[in-house]
Amino acid sequence: MSLPLIRLLYASRATSGTSYGALIGIMDHARDKNSVSNITGMLCYGSGQFLQALEGDRQSVSDLYHRIAPDPRHTECQLISIVEIDARAFAEWSMKVVNWDDGKSARRQSLLEADTGTSEFNPSAMRAEQANRFLQHLAELEREIAGD
Ligand code: FAD
Repeated sequence: MSLPLIRLLYASRATSGTSYGALIGIMDHARDKNSVSNITGMLCYGSGQFLQALEGDRQSVSDLYHRIAPDPRHTECQLISIVEIDARAFAEWSMKVVNWDDGKSARRQSLLEADTGTSEFNPSAMRAEQANRFLQHLAELEREIAGD
């Protein structure tokens, strides 16, 4: 019997020294590992904070979250939600990284305001429903930008 597919969202805070550049280094290795265990997802970094979605079978996502949470490159991990899903929202990405601080997009900012009711990227203050909606809309926007 196959394990249920789940999506887990958490928020955390980068520790000193974990810049966006450092994150890119972490992700080179992380994507390879995620591909092997069929994990997909999205990671948004901004103002020294992370919001990450992990999708996959329940065991793989659990194992990964337990590995990520104690990583000293971030702290204050807060679980936002864990839901069973019928289909992946980030299926094409072994981990899509979005740098919120790159200042390029007014459209991203509008999404944040519409989905969370605030202009600040502050994932630890998001409700589960807001965080899920925001990341999925962000994914749609990233696909649109990539398809331009
Ligand atoms: P190694 O890479 O060999 O690491 C062994 C241990 O050393 C780990 O406990 C690791 O936390 C620690 N470590 C490694 N390098 C450093 C360093 N430069 N400074 C301090 N400690 C270090 N991993 C994934 O596989 N998938 C993900 O989607 C993913 N997302 C992440 C998101 C964030 C915000 C962060 C901070 C990390 C993420 N990681 C992810 C990395 C994850 O936390 C583990 O480091 C990684 O999975 C361990 O890989 P490994 O088993 O090959 O061990």
